[in-house]
Amino acid sequence: MEKFIVDGMLGKAGRWLRLMGYDTLYFNTNRKAELLRIGRKEGRIILTRDRKLALSNPDVVILIESEETLNQLKEIICKLSLTLSEANLFNRCSICNSVLESKIKEEIKNFVPEYVYSTKDRFSQCPSCKKVYWDGDHCKGIKRTIEKLFSSP
Ligand SMILES: [Zn+2]
Repeated sequence: MEKFIVDGMLGKAGRWLRLMGYDTLYFNTNRKAELLRIGRKEGRIILTRDRKLALSNPDVVILIESEETLNQLKEIICKLSLTLSEANLFNRCSICNSVLESKIKEEIKNFVPEYVYSTKDRFSQCPSCKKVYWDGDHCKGIKRTIEKLFSSP
């Protein structure tokens, strides 16, 4: 599976990539050399709207030209020929990129609202920021949006 670094102008797209299961670092920095070094060292594709950076480093940088988040994602999917992996959906924290851990109900009791605890059975938690995820209605909406991104030309 591809791994990415997104720069400051693609932060929202980066969160969507994580929801799709892609290992995606967010780098809001002007230190381009550092960005390139990490990309090359860790085998990460750097996604940027910085034309100059992309043109001078075509081995590791992909230029994203769209301005709107969903269009940016379409462009990323198209330029890199990404395919949708259902198994990897929602397996990564959208905030900090860590791989989520499955939790039994009792373990997350203090981290979720009462009504969620009483109505849901499957939970996962980010080992870094402790955010708890569950299979709610919002997931269905996100999943539909992702499926649409991959299916439309
Ligand atoms: Zn997290």
